[in-house]
Amino acid sequence: MEVVCPIDAQFAEQIALLLEPPSSLQVQEYFDDIITSKQCNGIQVKPTNDYGKGVYADTEFEEEDLVLKDQMLIGVQHSSNKIDCLVCGYCFRFIGSIELQIGRKLYLQGLGSPKDCFDLASSDGSDMEDHQEFQHCSSRKRFQLPIESIESLMNEKLALPYSNKFPLPSAIDCPGGCKEVYYCSKSCAQADWELCHSILCTGEGSKSSSKKALLKFIEHANETNDIFLLAAKAISSTILKYRKLKAACNKEKEKNKIAQVLSNHKFSLLLKAWKPLSMGYKRRWWDCIALPDDVDISDESSFRMQIRQLAFESLELLKKAIFDEECLPLLSLEIYGHIIGMFELNNLDLVVASPVEDYFLYIDDLPEAEKKEVDEITRPFLDALGEDYSVCCQGTAFFPIQSCMNHSCCPTAKAFKRDEDRDGQATILACRPIKKGEEITISYIDEDLQFEERQALLADYGFRCKCPKCIQEDP
Ligand SMILES: [Zn+2]
Ligand SMILES: [Zn+2]
Ligand SMILES: [Zn+2]
Repeated sequence: MEVVCPIDAQFAEQIALLLEPPSSLQVQEYFDDIITSKQCNGIQVKPTNDYGKGVYADTEFEEEDLVLKDQMLIGVQHSSNKIDCLVCGYCFRFIGSIELQIGRKLYLQGLGSPKDCFDLASSDGSDMEDHQEFQHCSSRKRFQLPIESIESLMNEKLALPYSNKFPLPSAIDCPGGCKEVYYCSKSCAQADWELCHSILCTGEGSKSSSKKALLKFIEHANETNDIFLLAAKAISSTILKYRKLKAACNKEKEKNKIAQVLSNHKFSLLLKAWKPLSMGYKRRWWDCIALPDDVDISDESSFRMQIRQLAFESLELLKKAIFDEECLPLLSLEIYGHIIGMFELNNLDLVVASPVEDYFLYIDDLPEAEKKEVDEITRPFLDALGEDYSVCCQGTAFFPIQSCMNHSCCPTAKAFKRDEDRDGQATILACRPIKKGEEITISYIDEDLQFEERQALLADYGFRCKCPKCIQEDP
């Protein structure tokens, strides 16, 4: 049975307006604004006839030159990665200290294992005998460490040698008191609160409409697909922006003694709040998601139906959690599906290198005699972490300018983090000299694959590549 979302029918007209692709002029104005305000000099976003939009060089670039640092519109750390890395909930910089990063990870890995493992929360010391060793029951074989050393790392009583060479900003609590999200600075905490977290916070200060529904929504997303968390951020940020615009407008009207905002004017404010998201190319998630390898082609329609059902389940929970009468069109299945589809088609992986990896590499590079001494302290931790010691921060994010870059199998640029790029911004570097006016392209896939394989992968993005390399190799 196909699920029916009542909001889809009730607000069909508004939804159609929200999903209408922006005009060339609107695209031009929006991106000119971003480029000026973010000072991304050297590039231009232009509407094109065949692809929608493209990014072009407005200056010359040499090979390896920085073309662009693109600030994400919204992003999330993958749920599974939250055990491995503690990062700022807004800029995704690593926070705390090397000791906290290592201790927290070892501790949480222990908690994530079956019951017979050490449970710090319920420990009263009475049965310490059984729990003397911190056991790891995950399938990966690990070395065991006494819980005391892990605790002393977590509360930073134990300082590891040379960790001061890798200073990290201290972790700032969420102002809503959820203890789920931490920040690198007061300004990041404030910015995230205003962007979306105030209505997605599960703490005392939360402005959500139902904390119970919110917790259920988050649990559902963690168990199914964390792209729902990103979609929730997108909708929340639009709602908050709408409220801000309306408040400013009411203030203005009061000053001029004009009647309060009318309802069709309210919708124009909602359209304005939605503008950043209107710029991304969209299709419904269940229509554009690639068919997984293990799903037979004959089951395609039931697979797509299941995906739609899943999105509906998630949306029902979200709707209760962040309900807003005046923003109801945003909580329709049609909009929800298109937002997730937009992420599916445009997102770039969010990656931030781990300072823990740098730390152990530094120790490994010490002169032999000194290394031996230091190694005695650090080795047990490195062994306990195992191969995972270098896991970086991983997530997914929507980058406004990067998402306008078209694909080429012989691209002019690439997304690549340099040593100094330590936060969630996308870094785009030139792969070869780029002339002024030339298009800046990146590869969405591994461009070294064979022609047929490349075309098959690009079909998931909804196009057939006609780049110079593909034209030449087309049999
Ligand atoms: Zn930050
Ligand atoms: Zn919070
Ligand atoms: Zn190609």
